[in-house]
Order: sequence, then structure tokens, then C-alpha cells
Amino acid sequence: MSSHAMQPDASSSPPLSAGLLSEPTFPILTLDESRLTPALGYVFRKSWLYRHESLISMLWKFETANAPSGVVAARLMGLDVDPYQGIAPRRGAVDVRRLQESLGLPVETLQVALIDAVGRRRYSDVFRYCRPCLAHGYHSVVHQLEKLSVCPAHRRMLETKCWRCGRETPYRVNVQLLEARFHCANCYAGHGGAWKPENAEPMKPQHRRAFACRYLECCLG
Ligand SMILES: [Zn+2]
Ligand SMILES: [Zn+2]
Repeated sequence: MSSHAMQPDASSSPPLSAGLLSEPTFPILTLDESRLTPALGYVFRKSWLYRHESLISMLWKFETANAPSGVVAARLMGLDVDPYQGIAPRRGAVDVRRLQESLGLPVETLQVALIDAVGRRRYSDVFRYCRPCLAHGYHSVVHQLEKLSVCPAHRRMLETKCWRCGRETPYRVNVQLLEARFHCANCYAGHGGAWKPENAEPMKPQHRRAFACRYLECCLG
């Protein structure tokens, strides 16, 4: 069998480093990770966030963009927090100042991301979610409101059990939930999407309004 027609051209060498050139250049973290600040090179953009986004959802975006370990991310809650045990993302329990320094977000934004049982507002201790919302990179404090059974935006029943493994996850900021990053924290089943900084897009205005209305309604009792 002749291969004369397929003579390779000796002058064309393969671009060996083509794949490496487009890699983002983040500084390598060799410093004391117990104290993270934006000065160490962490990136977090306010434009990635949606209104009423939960702290865990914010942290998943932070992790996706910066790739710290779950232990490092859990330590952002406070230096004395056991990363594996974690902490409920409640106002008063989480060290908001430390989070503010690390994520560079306004205190008010962080306060809204935390749950507080004020008045008749009650929040579930189990992680509750809407699959289309998670697929778009969004989990909200509104999803955690016990009063609500459907997602305000998608009108689907909120779920607690994983569609694949059937297990529930406690709503705590710990290594297990942090490393799930919009997936099931038990089996890592996905929900049909993968949030990345480069595909972040604004929420539809009607969805934004729906979350705001439900949040206010529940606040008023
Ligand atoms: Zn939804
Ligand atoms: Zn699962």
C-alpha cells in the first residue's frame, strides 16, 4: 500500500505548547492559607452574584474561580471553625468581617446571604434546591425558606434528596458541601450545567423579581 500522497511536510512542527498558552496565570499559593486576602491573588467579581444568593452558592463560585481546597474555604467562616464539622451559615455565627476581607464583598451582601430566623421566617436545616437554578450556578436563601415549596423562578418543587443517590445534605458550610460546587455533596451528581466565570450571565429580570417578592413576603410573615 502506497502512502506517497500522504507525505508529511517536514517543515510543519506541531504547536507543542498551544494548550498551555491560554491557561490563566494565578499565583501559586505557598503562603499561610489561614489568612486569605485579595492581595494574595484571589479573584471574586460582584457581577457573578445574583440577589439573595446564599453564602454556599457564593463560595462555590469563589472556589470555581480560585481553586482553594474545601478546608481553606471553610476556614473563611472563622479561624476556630472545624472545616469538616462546618458551621450553619447564620448571621451572628459566621465571621462576616473575615469573609468581607477575603471575598471583597460588601457586608450587606454577605448579611443577605446568611440565614436568620427573624419573625416568622424559618429556614430548613437541610440543603434545599431547584435543579435548573443550580445548573445556572444559583442557590438562594429563598430556597431554604421552609414556607416555600416551589422555586419562585422555575415553579418546580424544591428538592432535598439527590435525584441519583437519594440522600439529603445538612445545610452547613463544611468541606463536604463546599467541595460539591453545585453538585450533590454525596455522589457528585450534576444538575445539567456547570457554572464558570466565563459563562456567567445575568439572571432574567422576571426571575430576579420573583425571588425578591418571595423573600419580602416571607419576611413580612
Ligand atoms: Zn429555580
Ligand atoms: Zn447524590
